Amino acid sequence: MKKLNHKSAMATSEIALERLMEGNKRFVESKMNPSERMDECRLRLLGGQNPFAVILGCSDSRVPPELIFDQGPGELFVVRVAGNIAGRMVMGSIEYAVEHLRIPLILVLGHTDCGAVTATAAGNPLPGELPVLAAAIQPALDEARALQGDLIENTAKINAKLVSEKISRTGPIISSAVRSGTLKVMPAFYRLDTGEVDLLENSC
Ligand SMILES: [Zn+2]
Repeated sequence: MKKLNHKSAMATSEIALERLMEGNKRFVESKMNPSERMDECRLRLLGGQNPFAVILGCSDSRVPPELIFDQGPGELFVVRVAGNIAGRMVMGSIEYAVEHLRIPLILVLGHTDCGAVTATAAGNPLPGELPVLAAAIQPALDEARALQGDLIENTAKINAKLVSEKISRTGPIISSAVRSGTLKVMPAFYRLDTGEVDLLENSC
């Protein structure tokens, strides 16, 4: 396993991204690395964690970050919430990862056939706390309505970008790390059918 050096920040973000994309390639090709014995892995991690990337992903059971990036325990700091949105508790978790674990990369991962996006697009009244999710996704839906193509897929992609931009701008911890070049925040999109993760263009 490559040891990451947090002093060379840009390189560190790039190495982290490379590790994720190489892992995804292994997953797509069903050539995952043989996993370490879990009892040995647990003991090795007793001294602490040193994950190399934050994944903000959807709770959808078909999008498990450790599997789709072929990573083991201790390697990814995962925050999952339906629609991969960034409310205050999610932001607090990500800030912890950046401030205390010095993680150089945050990937915001949308996906095809997202139920949270589909429910928002349907526009029906939602019970309980579900409107909170829909309200967070609504700005992406509004943008996507102006585009050609699949509304649900476009909304999920725009949502990943908007969430990524929101995280980048959130101060003081994250915005200053982004400005100083020690942290990259990137949107990405997972396809349920192929298992592939594509990086989306970051507009900020
Ligand atoms: Zn989803």
